[in-house]
Amino acid sequence: MHLARFPRLKIAHLPTPLEPLQNLTRLLGGPNLWIKRDDCTGLGTGGNKTRKLEFLAAEALAQGADTLITQGAVQTNHGRQTAAIAARLGLRCILLLEHRVATDDPDYLKNGNVLLDRLFGAELRELPGGTDMNAAMEPVAEEVRRAGGRPYTIPGGGSNEVGALGYVGCALELVHQANEQGLVIDHIVHATGSAGTQAGLVAGIAAMNARIPVLGIGVRAPRERQEANVHALACRVAEKLGLRSGIDRSAVAANCDYVGEGYGIPTPAMVEAVQLFARHEGILLDPVYTGKAAAGLIDLCRRGFFAKGTNVVFLHTGGAAGLHAYRAVFERASDRGSGSGG
Ligand SMILES: *Cc1c(COP(=O)(O)O)cnc(C)c1O
Repeated sequence: MHLARFPRLKIAHLPTPLEPLQNLTRLLGGPNLWIKRDDCTGLGTGGNKTRKLEFLAAEALAQGADTLITQGAVQTNHGRQTAAIAARLGLRCILLLEHRVATDDPDYLKNGNVLLDRLFGAELRELPGGTDMNAAMEPVAEEVRRAGGRPYTIPGGGSNEVGALGYVGCALELVHQANEQGLVIDHIVHATGSAGTQAGLVAGIAAMNARIPVLGIGVRAPRERQEANVHALACRVAEKLGLRSGIDRSAVAANCDYVGEGYGIPTPAMVEAVQLFARHEGILLDPVYTGKAAAGLIDLCRRGFFAKGTNVVFLHTGGAAGLHAYRAVFERASDRGSGSGG
């Protein structure tokens, strides 16, 4: 595998730090917890989509595109990072936003990522919940073409075999950091949604033969479907990398027990996780992805899923801009004084 063979822009602030979570390690009394700070990738408040967009936007420029089109839920972090990279590159950006979360909370509809999308100059188009969003991009691309533009469409979450290369790179970076520090990583845990992050990590780890298990904590789909999506994409990434061994189905593990009622719908465990990270580590998680992933991590620590003394790396995939969209949820939680003795 030789990642430099694939066109890539250098935009993310890399390497992102790998740091110990000393206070949470002590508090939870289980494995040694570490955090990989991909919330600090530096583009438009950062997050995991930036690594993917380095490869996707490079391909867009190589094709002579002048417009980026992508899609997501109203509070999509991927849309926000796409809007920021488009601004940086001088490209037009059209974001299709699905009303996937049923709410009329003005903070959800206008604040957080939506406020930032507008600041970055993106054009926002809203569609009802349940729309086939990847299909909905095609007529928009056609409209851009008819007006003489050159569109480049990016699938939801930037999750195809090009975007996932960003997380092959992250796997290389993380293993290199661990080698430098003499740290043996026993598990990587992170939020999994559109599957590109986990697929890239799994393919990168397989390519290095690093043998580190990756556990994706789901935020939307049930486990079988999530694992199938990740595995299918990881196989395509492996093929792109020329990995002859392919990807073993057993290398893909997701736990979807922390979704709650659905995508973007808060759970008490998410609120507790966001509060724990904020109050004990000064680190901001997000309500839709990392808060639920950390709720899973915390619960699995409490249940003894990870042996004491093992090293567990939580990959922080960003999203804190979304906190502002969920103001009421955290205000209510603070009023109740919850937060596990924080
Ligand atoms: C998109 C996103 C994820 C999930 O990554 P996928 O590659 O879509 O699986 C996790 N955390 C945050 C904050 C995200 O924005």
